[in-house]
Amino acid sequence: MNKFEALGLNNAIVKAVTELGFEAPTPIQEKTIPALLTGTTDLVALAQTGTGKTAAFGLPLISLIDFKSRDTQAVILCPTRELCMQITRDLQNYTKYIDGANIVAVYGGASIEGQSREIKRGAQIVVATPGRMNDMINRRNVNLSKVRYAVLDEADEMLNMGFKEDLDTILSQTPAEKNTWLFSATMPDEVLRISKHYMSSPIEITTGTKNSGNENIEHVYYVVQARDKYPTLKRIADSNPDIFAIVFCRTKIETQEIADKLIKDGYNADALHGDLSQSQRDHVMKRYRSRSLQMLVATDVAARGIDVQDVTHVINYALPDEIENYTHRSGRTARAGKTGVSIAIINMKEVGKIRIIERLIKTKFTQAKVPNGFEVCEKQLFSLVKKIHNVEVNEKAIESYLPGIYEELKDLTREDIIKRFVSTEFNRFLDYYKNAPDLNASSSGRDQRSVSTNGNTKLFINLGEMDKLDSRSMTEYISEVSGVAANTIVSIDVKSSFSFIEVKTESAEVITGTFKNIQFNGRNVRIESRGASSSSTGGGERRSYGGGNGSYGDRGNSYGSRSDRGGSSSRGGYGGGERRSYGSGSGSGERKSYSDRSSRGGNTAKTYNESGAGEYSDRGRSARVSTGNTGNSDDRKNNFKREKRPRKAF
Ligand code: AMP
Repeated sequence: MNKFEALGLNNAIVKAVTELGFEAPTPIQEKTIPALLTGTTDLVALAQTGTGKTAAFGLPLISLIDFKSRDTQAVILCPTRELCMQITRDLQNYTKYIDGANIVAVYGGASIEGQSREIKRGAQIVVATPGRMNDMINRRNVNLSKVRYAVLDEADEMLNMGFKEDLDTILSQTPAEKNTWLFSATMPDEVLRISKHYMSSPIEITTGTKNSGNENIEHVYYVVQARDKYPTLKRIADSNPDIFAIVFCRTKIETQEIADKLIKDGYNADALHGDLSQSQRDHVMKRYRSRSLQMLVATDVAARGIDVQDVTHVINYALPDEIENYTHRSGRTARAGKTGVSIAIINMKEVGKIRIIERLIKTKFTQAKVPNGFEVCEKQLFSLVKKIHNVEVNEKAIESYLPGIYEELKDLTREDIIKRFVSTEFNRFLDYYKNAPDLNASSSGRDQRSVSTNGNTKLFINLGEMDKLDSRSMTEYISEVSGVAANTIVSIDVKSSFSFIEVKTESAEVITGTFKNIQFNGRNVRIESRGASSSSTGGGERRSYGGGNGSYGDRGNSYGSRSDRGGSSSRGGYGGGERRSYGSGSGSGERKSYSDRSSRGGNTAKTYNESGAGEYSDRGRSARVSTGNTGNSDDRKNNFKREKRPRKAF
């Protein structure tokens, strides 16, 4: 007996899913299908994207719907247009052999009249984004009074996106006795609250651990200077010649900037974000799906719900503001039982965030070294050799040229020919990477202010004798909070209100990373590398550390505190120019000066990149790309065609 049939699904559905290549139900489907087929239960399911959750609710739903009737019997609410279209497509596929099935997608950015007409034809299932569904209700274009099933898909995302009120309005239009099925990748308190609010005694289904990610994903991070993030991204791409990635940035501007740089540098990349028109977004997605693009640079919102098969890498160019979004991002890879890699490119201060994510997803990250030029070249070389080995030879077309070619090469041995043939492509890569610097933060040599000659790192902490700590108790305290072994703390010089700590360099990152939002006797503890605070030794400073509870996590805190300090009399003690930029102005001014600094960081990266482009100019990337363009102009398309070739050669 077919395994789907065994779960109680009818022949028409089994036939459709078999044609889709589904051989056996996924773990979540095994649990939900028999339970939901009873047609009498509410359900809360914790499920990541990629687990087969659409079929987990879609298949039983289809079994329960009366497709002879034209009434709308089910409404499926989901956060984004992409996901809405995806679910609709999936359900249409599942109902291929069911007569009269009409499943309609309702989402913003498309004609509401067209969608209303579709519903009036008699849509038994309406799949909708909450905002557009609300519009439909207000215009009385949809009748939800016969709804028997409501599905809330990616409930956490809908709440994140502020759809709570829309959900309330929509569900209030549906009969109270319906069944509600809620799916969420994470279970923050708010989701639990709404599940209690909307449902009565729901059955709870979990696949995997609560808030955990997909086991098939390998989580990796690289620690680099902020200005080296972009070159690091390129190294990652270059050392994975077959990469098919989504690169997540935090803002639309950053997304566009990174995509533009990648395009300029000859990568098959493009941006996906909310400032693009719908048709531009569709165009980008079409090219990504067809693999004309190797790297899709996207914001969280724009990339939600994307179901593209075989994404090899998810790259967190910037970690998400909402740490829980990491799960959504990484869930774009390793779908349907495949494996994938989720990468975070971070600076030293963000190591603590990685530890928080590790706790959330209950999975350890591996810290990887950014590959050096030699390693990238090696990867490219073997990829090229493999390509040569596997290339399809068009015997007929090449036949007539061969005698001339043999004649031309007759004085060369087989080995010579191989070497030369490979070198025609490979030399460009060698040149490209010949002077490539080490990009790893701890060994880059470009920011070693706090690393002493013996390889240890000096840290500053705003705790001292006044906190009733001596070197022993402070060692214990730091070791306990950060998890580093006490013997990696080499020495502690305890002063009255602060101390200097010398630690093994590898522990320094972990300590500074984990001491975020940590309090000691009600006061925020601050640890920073001594280079950034070497002159900040005034006893009066300690009062100012308590301040700053910015919304932007530890950064808000940390710069808030600096600003306070800047205002104190010890300000003149700061040595470096950068420090002074923190010292002036109010708290909000500080934030601004931070972002000024960030944009300077961006410029540095750009300069670096530009000098790189000059250095690497023989890579064959002379085509000018109008980086200001987005979307689908012909000009841009042509640029892609021109740009694609040199890179493809590798
Ligand atoms: P979802 O979690 O619904 O986004 O599904 C992820 C991917 O897995 C989709 O491309 C589905 O078509 C595919 N899929 C769902 N169920 C199965 C199954 N039982 N066997 C194979 N593939 C499946």
